[in-house]
Amino acid sequence: MITIDIALGVSLCLSVMIIFFGFMWFKYAVVDDGVNREASSAGIVRQCPYCSHIIISNGKTEVVRCPLCQSYLEEGIHD
Ligand SMILES: [Zn+2]
Repeated sequence: MITIDIALGVSLCLSVMIIFFGFMWFKYAVVDDGVNREASSAGIVRQCPYCSHIIISNGKTEVVRCPLCQSYLEEGIHD
């Protein structure tokens, strides 16, 4: 019979959790960041001035509509 005392069990559980969250962070920081960078290079990243929602438009349509607050955003306005 395998006996595991409470200290070993807690440390094993914490180690598994740390490895799991480390892996999730790695996936979020490296994999998803690469996907976002790809999308931003393919389209135009805009921020809605009313609700600050981030919109990625393809640049083909003249008027972009915010999917969150349904307000129209004009294209071609630069500072
Ligand atoms: Zn909005």
